[in-house]
Amino acid sequence: MYKIIVFLIIFTASFIKYVNAQPTFKPVSQYRAPSIDYSKLYQRKEDGVSFFKKVLSIIKNPIPEKDDVALERTDNFLYSGPTSVSQDMLQIAENIREDFSETYFGTSLPPSIGPVILYFEPSDTEDSNLTWTIDDPQRKFHTIWLKCSPQRIHGACAHEMTHALLATRYPNQITPLFTEAIATLHDDPKRIKIYNDLLQYWSRSKNFPPWERLFQPQNIPNKDKAGYGAAHILARYLLNHTPIDKPQLNDAGDPATPEQILVMFAANSYHPGQKNTNELPIFNAVKFNEALQKYYDIKDIQELVTRLNNYIRERGAYQNPKN
Ligand SMILES: [Zn+2]
Repeated sequence: MYKIIVFLIIFTASFIKYVNAQPTFKPVSQYRAPSIDYSKLYQRKEDGVSFFKKVLSIIKNPIPEKDDVALERTDNFLYSGPTSVSQDMLQIAENIREDFSETYFGTSLPPSIGPVILYFEPSDTEDSNLTWTIDDPQRKFHTIWLKCSPQRIHGACAHEMTHALLATRYPNQITPLFTEAIATLHDDPKRIKIYNDLLQYWSRSKNFPPWERLFQPQNIPNKDKAGYGAAHILARYLLNHTPIDKPQLNDAGDPATPEQILVMFAANSYHPGQKNTNELPIFNAVKFNEALQKYYDIKDIQELVTRLNNYIRERGAYQNPKN
């Protein structure tokens, strides 16, 4: 009996350790209105288990130091990176493309619309990922560079693919603030923690993000974590405050989810820049306020700023009971 109890204790402890050691890839559903099944973002229903296994197999099997570089082509991707993970990487990218199109537009993108060149370079020390969306009539592909540890692949690919998909459906219509806002919803827990730390800092100090400046079209530098944090909070706020009595229709003609309304607002609140150029959308207060009223029942940008700061004040206080 004694041996059985000891065995059970050791088994339970090992199991908990094993489960905790697995990456969870949990989307930030806790911040969002419960309108859709977020597990679908990461596990397609029909092959959820095999997809999860693919992600795990990349993480668990170290990539050989001297791996060949593969060049693989599908309808939607051209992959360049270690041969040993080429099929798994392509499958992950294809799943993200399909799931995110459904999530943000309500319908799948047809094959080969907005194709992506996907470079992957494994690195245990660096975490730098980048998307260069099509910004020139000569360019036929978006380009994504992932240089990160295998553990970061899924979050990094999901973040960067969000940029590519938004630029495909709404070229030059969405400012960097909003594409980052939406992309950060798919960041890994380490980055989400940074955004939560910023939220608490802004809440405690009452030094709120410079919203009026942030709403002006501008790029957010890669190292500007505060810029990403503000963008993330903006997305969380809007997702949680979608009016339920003002239904909008998505690309499939169905009632839009909060995610789809967020994208529609982002795409229709600025005057578009010139298509397929690197020109950013153009801010115009009248247009921005009209979109705020249409999608969120918010009177104008000043009211939005007041609401965002109140949200930071409340959420920051909520997350820090000592405050
Ligand atoms: Zn980004």
